[in-house]
Amino acid sequence: MIEKKLSLVSNQIPDNVQLVAVSKTKPSSMIVEAYTAGQRHFGENKALELRGKAEELNEDIQWHFIGHLQRNKVKYIVPHVALIHSIDSLRLLKEVNKEAAKHQKVINCLLQFHIAKESSKFGFSLEEIEVLLAENLLKGLTHVNIVGVMGMATFTDDKEQVRDEFKTLYTIYAQLKKKYFSNQTDFKEISMGMSGDYLIAIEEGATIVRVGSSIFGSRA
Ligand SMILES: *Cc1c(COP(=O)(O)O)cnc(C)c1O
Repeated sequence: MIEKKLSLVSNQIPDNVQLVAVSKTKPSSMIVEAYTAGQRHFGENKALELRGKAEELNEDIQWHFIGHLQRNKVKYIVPHVALIHSIDSLRLLKEVNKEAAKHQKVINCLLQFHIAKESSKFGFSLEEIEVLLAENLLKGLTHVNIVGVMGMATFTDDKEQVRDEFKTLYTIYAQLKKKYFSNQTDFKEISMGMSGDYLIAIEEGATIVRVGSSIFGSRA
């Protein structure tokens, strides 16, 4: 079942776009099924759940952290995580840097932007990030590597609104790239699109899509 749904999704995704299979709340047995079908990138939104699955599965899985991350939970994911999508404050980025240093690692991170109309979603505004970058506040953090941006669209049936929000994230990415990251070849990722909107996200320039329920079924 999972193999079939996974191939339905991945067949719609071009080779240059990374599919993150969002396995949050789902048992490890389902991850193993997807793994056996060839999937290597998985997304989780709870620190302890990511750690538990990573320790249990002990495979060459690339773990993505996609949820709101509390600073006191950073230590649980740093040993395991390949990419943190949800950096939404300087204090959080500094905490990741500190924990990564303890493990002699450099952790890849995305800056999360608030592009939705809903106030419930986390993330920076472009203005906030520009202040941090203009004041060089991200520069001394040698154990984090900022590789792009992430955003979540409003939960709505209005496809044009969703498309507009993805366009906004693309514009933010392009402006940051030009002004602050033009010499950094690995600043190239735009993480946007979920089960309901990943095709629109790809049309608007996503390089990473995060798809859960279309692969693993709906969550409780
Ligand atoms: C749960 C989640 C997803 C996947 O959602 P689906 O609609 O199940 O595909 C993607 N991104 C984030 C940040 C999530 O929390």
